[in-house]
Amino acid sequence: MTYSEFIKKYARHPHYKAPRGNVLNAKSWQAEAPLRMLLNNLDEEVAEDPEHLIVYGGTGQAARNKASVLKMIEMLLELEEDQSLLVQSGKPVGIIPTHTRAPRVLIANSNLVPEWANWEHFNQLKEKDLIMYGQMTAGSWIYIGSQGILQGTYETFAACGEKYFNGDLKHKLLVSGGLGGMGGAQPLAATIAGATFLGADVNPARIEKRLQTRYIDKMTYSYEEARDWALEAKEMEMPVSIGLVSDIGDLLEKLLKDGIIPDVVTDQTSAHDPLHGYIPDGFSLAEAEKLRKNNPVLYKEKSLKSMARHVGFMLEMQSKGSITFDYGNNLREFAKQGGEPDAFNYKGFVPEFIRPQFCEGKGPFRWAALSGEPDDIFETDRALIEHFPDNKKMISWIQQAQEKVAFQGLPSRICWLGMGEREKAGLIFNQLVKNGKLKAPVVIGRDHLDCGSVASPYRETEGMIDGSDAISDWPLLNLLANTSSGATWVSFHHGGGVGMGYSQHAGMVLLVDGSENAEENIKRVLRNDPALGVIRHADAGYEKAEEVAHKFSLKI
Ligand code: NAD
Repeated sequence: MTYSEFIKKYARHPHYKAPRGNVLNAKSWQAEAPLRMLLNNLDEEVAEDPEHLIVYGGTGQAARNKASVLKMIEMLLELEEDQSLLVQSGKPVGIIPTHTRAPRVLIANSNLVPEWANWEHFNQLKEKDLIMYGQMTAGSWIYIGSQGILQGTYETFAACGEKYFNGDLKHKLLVSGGLGGMGGAQPLAATIAGATFLGADVNPARIEKRLQTRYIDKMTYSYEEARDWALEAKEMEMPVSIGLVSDIGDLLEKLLKDGIIPDVVTDQTSAHDPLHGYIPDGFSLAEAEKLRKNNPVLYKEKSLKSMARHVGFMLEMQSKGSITFDYGNNLREFAKQGGEPDAFNYKGFVPEFIRPQFCEGKGPFRWAALSGEPDDIFETDRALIEHFPDNKKMISWIQQAQEKVAFQGLPSRICWLGMGEREKAGLIFNQLVKNGKLKAPVVIGRDHLDCGSVASPYRETEGMIDGSDAISDWPLLNLLANTSSGATWVSFHHGGGVGMGYSQHAGMVLLVDGSENAEENIKRVLRNDPALGVIRHADAGYEKAEEVAHKFSLKI
């Protein structure tokens, strides 16, 4: 196929689709894999807004502009096995000679020197088309749709049930805002955890997308209807999820007026970006768009004030008994800037629920079938169930995911695995490719929201026991370790999850093509990547991490 035929078939803006099957378009699987995953990130089944190359998380993009996508495709189609493509904030800027064991793509997104690392400076550079916001897996080409966050959200809600409600969330009402790319996982995760879910999003299209992908059960524009459905479902102990088209602050205010105090309250609106993410209350989408264009300073002011109001209601619910936690979108910081002095009176989800898992090197391990065949994923599911018979939680997750998760784009699976387990899973998958049980190679990657790949003091590294929350040597070491261990593409980003100035993080993806080379890479990358998480937490003084470090001989 010629370059122009390829573009016609797979990349006619805004209609993108990854090639399927086991025939190469690029010169090697090492280059074909990032090519397919870039296109998959932009597939309309996967991306929230392909027209603007936005994948998820507010304005998280896979590429800087249309020209960059086309150039990236051209370069990946031409890339030799001893070359690496350089990507600067979503734009391909060069090809360098490296070697066959080096990553094929080296990506740096949204990085700014600390003194200039804020949205104002970023937006000026974005106006000049010099930079792009890569979020976490958007700009590093391993976003797999809402399933990617589904298990993490489920783990969080389930841990909340265990910690505060004697085991589970049955008979409990969970209320949240934001039903976008990531937030859209909340309704399904909540119902899998046994809860009744009521969520608000100002944008009806976002809720409709969750209905289409079976992540949410019901949708309405009426507060009264949503409230009555939720109360009835809670009463009947029915895990039902309801999406209300509304500002989240308005929903919380009405619930408070009606004396309804949810058991759990959190939020996943795109609060990390007060200008392009959060919609101030009282504005329709069109009005918000207009104000954003005409008066960004006023927009931001209104946005911060709305967040203060929103968090004020969350705090009121907390004082009346709701378990309230931040869900990683920096809402507390911007609410504080907007005038809510007590915004940090509730904790983030990592110190509340997730850190013990990070101490074991556990995090959002995921893989995608480059063949495009759902059966390839079901085959990997079967293999994991067979080889990890004692991991009941994982088996139960896979069974539920098979039943409830609709694939988006290339079939994929997520499953939180830890130190030792990731390497074992990788080697099993490599054998499946080698023996022809899978129709084409798979790629293994993870979110940047992982145990050893991120510094984010209001999220992943909030409240570290040694106070090392803001030290970003750790994600840099993670990047260097994966680059020298044989990852197929690596990335370093700034601002993911919580916005400019608040986080730095690294990503990696590894090709599993059944070869001996892949086997060696798996043994290094899928050992060293979680090892960084264990080492990071052991160094901070977490006892569990010290035990795991000892078990895997990571201690020096
Ligand atoms: P998204 O942009 O796809 O969706 C955000 C949604 O919030 C949109 O649908 C928008 O309409 C809605 N929204 C904005 N203002 C609102 C308001 N006032 N009331 C009701 N709805 C409103 O973003 P996403 O990918 O879903 O991510 C959401 C947030 O979660 C981001 O800040 C992201 O950085 C963060 N995040 C958290 C995690 C985690 O693990 N906790 C992981 C990734 C991202």
